[in-house]
Amino acid sequence: MSRIYNFFAGPATLPKEVLKEAAGEMLDYKGYGMSVMEMSHRSKMFTDILKETKDDLRELMDIPENYEILFLQGGATTQFAMVPLNLHDNGVADIIMTGRWTEKARDEAKKYMDVNIIATSEDEGYVRIPDLSDLTISEDADFVHICQNNTIRGTRFYELPDTKGKPLVSDMSSMILSEPVDVSKYGIIYAGAQKNVGPAGVTIIIIRKDLIKDDVYEGTPTMLKYMTHHKKDSAYNTPPTYPIYMCGLVFKHLKKIGGVKEMHRRNKKKAKLLYDYLDQSDLFTPIVEKKSRSIMNVVFKTDVEALGQTFIKEAADEGLIGLKGHRSVGGMRASIYNAMTLEGVKALVGFMERFEKEHTS
Ligand code: PMP
Repeated sequence: MSRIYNFFAGPATLPKEVLKEAAGEMLDYKGYGMSVMEMSHRSKMFTDILKETKDDLRELMDIPENYEILFLQGGATTQFAMVPLNLHDNGVADIIMTGRWTEKARDEAKKYMDVNIIATSEDEGYVRIPDLSDLTISEDADFVHICQNNTIRGTRFYELPDTKGKPLVSDMSSMILSEPVDVSKYGIIYAGAQKNVGPAGVTIIIIRKDLIKDDVYEGTPTMLKYMTHHKKDSAYNTPPTYPIYMCGLVFKHLKKIGGVKEMHRRNKKKAKLLYDYLDQSDLFTPIVEKKSRSIMNVVFKTDVEALGQTFIKEAADEGLIGLKGHRSVGGMRASIYNAMTLEGVKALVGFMERFEKEHTS
């Protein structure tokens, strides 16, 4: 069996140890004689998995007791609607624009609220995080929304905006569990699992309990209320049982290797290797300003677009796949999430060096 190095932005590579474990338990989970996929979500077999998964995430991220953890469906995209629907009070949202995912959050919020763009780097092609030193937070803002790591543009926040006490909502889809974060600084953290955690199909929501309200935007569907899921511990209807189980295996794996701190150390090392190479390369150029560089999604280009296309194709022939940049940006992108190994990044850099030698005189 051979496994290639997978640099796709998501769904993305998962730890080999976890996939093996899941394969080993596929037909008979812990002597129950069935796969987790076949269990009733109301059975003790599954509710035990759900509880352990939740407890492990709480431990890994050091999530305070006044925060609820929910495992929902609908992807991060559904959160673009759930956040404004549930936090609606004055009907005002502040958003910091850093790319496509905040554009989508803005467009969804606009359906229910007045939206103020309090900072944006759109004019500069989103190559950096906008200056946060002089933010005007709307007095009546119900929340301030950011996308903390921008999967497409390859930028990230290194400091959080001062929201003047308004709840900070962070889309952490492409960075959750990649480094320690102080959960108490946020109102809501949400993330689709399919990049840094597990398979597609489950979205993780970490929400301060006082933000879970009955009094939400009028007409909000039952399934889109945080309260619905909070009251039933993520099992109001059938939850995505197998993806939750897979996330649980990843959490145990993370605990085993030393937790989020150790993961962060490894992630920084991988990103440094790649950026150091890019910064001295005569062929490839990193796109993002140094101060805003993501350690999860590394975007770069070649001066001649066609050469980039050749690179992507030849890299795939070498077993390095998923390097094409997002269609809205072009160029190349290497997503080096938690489960991408240092060996994978070394293999990529090694191939880039060989390719550069061949294509520069
Ligand atoms: N936010 C970010 C930062 C993302 O990268 C993505 C997916 N690429 C989304 C939101 C949308 O996630 P989903 O497909 O889970 O709805």
